[in-house]
Amino acid sequence: MLKRIVIVGGVAAGANAAVRARRLSESASITIFERGPFVSFANCGLPYYVGGEIEDRNKLTVQTPASLTERFGLTVHVLHEVIKVFPDLKEIEVRDLVKGETHRVQYDELILATGAAPLKPSIPGIDSPLLFTVRDIPDVDRIKESMAAKKWKRVVVLGGGYIGLEMIEQLHRIGAEVTLIQSLPQVMQQIDPELAALIHDELRAHGVKLILGDAVESIEKHENGCALTVVTKSGAREESDVGIIALGVRPETTLAANAGIRLGDRGGIKVDDQLRTSHPNIWAAGDCIEVQDWITRAWSLIALAGPANRQGRTVANNIFGKEDRYDGTLGTAVIRVFRLTVACTGANERSLTRAGIRYQAVHLHPNSHAGYYPGAKPIALKVLFSPDNGKLLGAQAVGEDGVERRIDIIATAIKGGLTAPDLVDLELCYAPPYGSAKDPVNVAGMIAENMLSGDVSSLTWNTIPKDAFLLDVRDGTEVAKGKIPSSVNIPLNEVRDRLNEIPKDREIVAYCQSGQRSYYACRILTLNGFRCHNLSGAYKTWAAGTAE
Ligand code: FAD
Repeated sequence: MLKRIVIVGGVAAGANAAVRARRLSESASITIFERGPFVSFANCGLPYYVGGEIEDRNKLTVQTPASLTERFGLTVHVLHEVIKVFPDLKEIEVRDLVKGETHRVQYDELILATGAAPLKPSIPGIDSPLLFTVRDIPDVDRIKESMAAKKWKRVVVLGGGYIGLEMIEQLHRIGAEVTLIQSLPQVMQQIDPELAALIHDELRAHGVKLILGDAVESIEKHENGCALTVVTKSGAREESDVGIIALGVRPETTLAANAGIRLGDRGGIKVDDQLRTSHPNIWAAGDCIEVQDWITRAWSLIALAGPANRQGRTVANNIFGKEDRYDGTLGTAVIRVFRLTVACTGANERSLTRAGIRYQAVHLHPNSHAGYYPGAKPIALKVLFSPDNGKLLGAQAVGEDGVERRIDIIATAIKGGLTAPDLVDLELCYAPPYGSAKDPVNVAGMIAENMLSGDVSSLTWNTIPKDAFLLDVRDGTEVAKGKIPSSVNIPLNEVRDRLNEIPKDREIVAYCQSGQRSYYACRILTLNGFRCHNLSGAYKTWAAGTAE
């Protein structure tokens, strides 16, 4: 029997499901309906097209309807919106957006890959024509047209997530003065505040004005219609030529909900581990579904291209009887913010706390490659693991070089079920231009192993006890540049000779610049009967964490 597969949405999840289905069946009829004018386009490239790094708009269209038909024998209808699903009849109703006509199409298997839409909260003025979203090619066409019509001098970006940050970088590239307004106190919720602070520094170093912890209340249009003022809850007024709305996305679920398909508590389509919806023969994949967070197992909305591609493949596999389970999403992600690369995988402190999962944190500041080889850059690396069994829970890193490689290694280790101490044994490629014989990932494993075995107790920048004796073991020149208030300086090499200056009846928190020398100090003190904790990530992490 000819299997009729109908797919709603033709970008990451939909297009992947379609081509995988074709690789599994030469006889199936596979039809994609896409509301927009393009299929399989590169939304991830949109900010770089705005900034001109990607010059040729055609590069954004990875495939066209014609190329999908020619190579994969797919039937592709763009500018066709699926407006209704009749699950009991196994039919959909489609509107041709050019002709305005509707017709019905039958399916044996229906795949919902309807993606997500930009969040536009109901703030007065949010529909101003001077405000732009960045979701698809028509969006960036509008932006480019506006830029061509009048040079943008001042741009306000609402929202400091991935898309907001990528747009900030690209707007700066075209010479705009950029202001970021972010309701939360930090950018990029996927990482913890002491690492986000490094992004704030980088943004400010490039002249970006940050308004953090202050939500937008209204947007006022100027009388001449050529500019706007964004008013925040605290009363700040930010004048701007145009604005970018990058406040996050919401799953596109209207079609599913109207068909009686079950949605989850987070508002995405509920699927089982084969990505089947509550209706037999209806599947869903991509940004429109809820996935289980790999670490916390909480149902979550994680809008990323890699998982969307993978889910499209999973659905096609299952339709053709290849049992394929989708176990959850780790949320591994990377972004460039000017000179910095920011990457993360798994859970952060916030999500672990919310899920009631116990964790310990390792902070370190290794070089991207051997310090003696020119060009090494520091990486701020944080690894979270379970104090109960060493299970890896997440990692985040910020730096100019070698960041994404370390996070990819840890993401792979998490999926492979490795523990934090297992990182010690990873044999990673090394030559001086690329890394160190003891790679930062190995070193993170060593620190975690020391913590788990009780060789060293560690505290983080935000858990220093008030009555602790703070011991700074750096050299005087470093101390002169900044120290933790009320700390006492005894350089590491003098600690053994000056033990009598350190109280035995108080908890000691030792720190240096990045945590290595204070670890040595902690060992000396512990072996001499003191209760010493090493400050994780030491002064560098404390300074970043307390900066805002
Ligand atoms: P979408 O890409 O949203 O596609 C869904 C499609 O369904 C849309 O084209 C829509 O028109 C269509 N549709 C919806 N309803 C209907 C209907 N009723 N009838 C017909 N068609 C319909 N992810 C990363 O991992 N890395 C990045 O660097 C990255 N950068 C990004 C930058 C930007 C600017 C954007 C917008 C996203 C970025 N993402 C990135 C996220 C990534 O692009 C998405 O996770 C991915 O595209 C999701 O794919 P999808 O197929 O589920 O949904």
